[in-house]
Amino acid sequence: MLEKARAMQQQLTDWRREFHMHPELGFQEIRTAAKVAEILEQIGYRVRRGVGRTGVVAEFGNGKPVVAIRADMDALPLQESNQVPYASQNPGVMHACGHDSHMAMALGAAALLSRVKISGTVRFLFQPSEEVADDEGLSGAQRMIQDGVMDGVELVIALHVEPTTPSGAIRIESGPVSGGVDSWFGEIIGIGGHGAHPHQSIDPFYLTAHVILALNGIVSRRLDPFDPAVVSIGSLHGGFTENVIPERVKITGTLRYTEKRVQEQIHAEIRRAFEIARTLGGNYNLIFQIGTPPMINSPKASDFIESVAVDLLGRQNVLPWKNELGAEDFGCFMELATGAMFALGTGSERFQRQLHNPDFDLDESCLPVGAALLAETVLRFFRENKYQRHWNNIRKFI
Ligand SMILES: [Zn+2]
Ligand SMILES: [Zn+2]
Repeated sequence: MLEKARAMQQQLTDWRREFHMHPELGFQEIRTAAKVAEILEQIGYRVRRGVGRTGVVAEFGNGKPVVAIRADMDALPLQESNQVPYASQNPGVMHACGHDSHMAMALGAAALLSRVKISGTVRFLFQPSEEVADDEGLSGAQRMIQDGVMDGVELVIALHVEPTTPSGAIRIESGPVSGGVDSWFGEIIGIGGHGAHPHQSIDPFYLTAHVILALNGIVSRRLDPFDPAVVSIGSLHGGFTENVIPERVKITGTLRYTEKRVQEQIHAEIRRAFEIARTLGGNYNLIFQIGTPPMINSPKASDFIESVAVDLLGRQNVLPWKNELGAEDFGCFMELATGAMFALGTGSERFQRQLHNPDFDLDESCLPVGAALLAETVLRFFRENKYQRHWNNIRKFI
């Protein structure tokens, strides 16, 4: 597959640059989705449009097992600073998270798999809006799942570009590789008054100061030090002028975790921190917006990808993946089927760029590597009956 994918280098580059030049924000991927659907139809896939609002689902092959490959399609609200012929033509919008290349590589894998005989069904999930949730708090993966894209799926895989790793190498790890994320929105309520008469008011700043201290004590004083977690404050707003004590202060933030029990504990502790406002004579409002779950690579799926990668790229190019608490909604798919994501190296001497930055770019020699690894993993999953029997036996015990 790697040789065949390398022969597709020009095509993969063209696809990636085409998407890069015309980036679209989450749930607005109209042009992008149309292009993806058109290419998939041309290479013989059965295509469904408008899935999960602006997503595309495409299938090839028949019967069981069903293996899904996911690619995200959305760009970011950023002005590109690169002076390249394929720079974004859409002002203020840029593919700075590499989703343009995710699409190109998934299309490459689709093309590679369409040329071989497969004993099962491969289903490509081109999802909208990985970066942001819609007005009901749901991201693209959750919308796709609502539309049934995971029905019957036994294995789901994906990749994400990783600019600090050289092109030609990948990173894979079992267990948690990214954090679950929830947002919280709070309001500390006191009694407003004259700045010269604090005793006649209940100063919400004073209450908030105590709440902030308690919030910052959650991870350091309340959680088990072996449970990775974050509680961060992202905004704090209150007051109008220097000599008026306002009635309320608004405070919002995010939290990260890798295990459900820790998520529940953090929620309880944040509530407890806000209770201090009541203890000191004020009141509060607090709302949690549940985000996406942590991304937990199944040991079976990550071991499988790792073995394929070692064969394709050599042991020296298959590296461990350091987990972190950034968010990635691929975790939603992995709650419904065995799955894993791997990180694809996209860096080189020339391209040492960070994700979500206006100068993000990648070494396009990584494109065949990603496409080949996706396709080869699916192919071997179908072919290796031995592995599958083994996997089914294990599943019985879970
Ligand atoms: Zn991103
Ligand atoms: Zn991303």
